[in-house]
Amino acid sequence: MSELRFDELRGEEVVYAIHRQERTFLPSREHCPLCPTRPGAAQTEIPFAAFEIAVFDNRFPAFEAPRGASEVVVYTDSHDGSFGTLAPRRAEALMWVWRHRYMELGAREDVDYVFIFENRGVEVGVTLHHPHGQIYGYPFLPPVPELELAADERLGGCTPCALLAAELAEGRRVVYENDGVVAYVPYAARWAYEAHVVMRQHRPSLLDCDAEQLRQLAAALQALTRGYDALFNRPFPYVMAVHQAPTTHLATAAEAATATAACGHLHVEFYPPLRTADKLKYLAGSEQGAGTFISDTLPEESAAALREAITRAA
Ligand SMILES: [Zn+2]
Ligand SMILES: [Zn+2]
Ligand SMILES: [Zn+2]
Repeated sequence: MSELRFDELRGEEVVYAIHRQERTFLPSREHCPLCPTRPGAAQTEIPFAAFEIAVFDNRFPAFEAPRGASEVVVYTDSHDGSFGTLAPRRAEALMWVWRHRYMELGAREDVDYVFIFENRGVEVGVTLHHPHGQIYGYPFLPPVPELELAADERLGGCTPCALLAAELAEGRRVVYENDGVVAYVPYAARWAYEAHVVMRQHRPSLLDCDAEQLRQLAAALQALTRGYDALFNRPFPYVMAVHQAPTTHLATAAEAATATAACGHLHVEFYPPLRTADKLKYLAGSEQGAGTFISDTLPEESAAALREAITRAA
C-alpha cells in the first residue's frame, strides 16, 4: 500500500509507493507482460490470444482503492508501433476507452482527479516498450490541475478558451488544426517542442464530447505524434498529459454523465525532453531549485519546424 505524506514546505502531497521498485524493467519482447497470452506460452497480464484495447489494474500501483486507482491501458496487441501508428479507428476507439474510464473512475468517491497519460521512451523512464498509457485516479486534486483552475479564477473565465483564441489570432505557433481540435506550441512553452492539443469548443471533459469531436481529437493526437517522429526522424520521447475537469464533486456515474458545469477544458499537453535530435533538456538548478524554466529555443521557431514535420508525416 502506498503512503501519502504532505510536504508542508511546498504545500503538496508526496506518494511513497516502495513496492514499485520491484516492477518489471524493460523485459525482452518474449517476456513482455502487455503482449497477448499465446497458446501454450506463459500467461501475460492479458489472458487472451488477441485483443484490441486492454485496461487493467496496475500490478505496481501508485494509488489503489480505497484511496485512488492506477490502471494500465494497452493500445494494441501488437508489440511494436506506437500511438501515432495505430489504425485511425483504433485511435478513435481509444478515445472512447479514455472516456469510459474517466466516467467510471470519476464517479468513485475516492477519486478526485482522473489523470490519463503516456510516458513514451526510455528518456522519460518507460519500463515497458509495448504501446500503452496509464491512468491514475488521484485521491486529491494534484498541483498542476489546481494551478489551471486557479488561472481560471485569476482571469475570470476559461483559460484554455482564452489562450486558444489568442493562439488562433496570432497563428504563428499553431501546428495543426481540424474542425474540432487545434494544436499549438504554447506562447510560454517550457519544453523546446511542447505542444498543447485543445478542443475548439469549451468541453470540460471527454464526457462532454460527441463522437465527431472524439474522432477529431484522435486525428489531432495522431498527426502530432507522427509529426514528432518525423521531426528528427527517430522515435520521439514525450510525456503526454490529458487535462480535464476534476471529478471531486461527482458522486455517481449518472451524475458524472450529466455534469457539464464542471471547471476545466479538455486539452492534451505534450512535454518532449529532446531539444535537438540527440540532446536532452535536464531539469537542473533553476528548474528544480527555483521552479523557473530556462529554454534554449523560441516557441515560434519550434512551431515552424514541428508544423513542417507534421505536414511531411501526413
Ligand atoms: Zn508486448
Ligand atoms: Zn474553455
Ligand atoms: Zn493543462
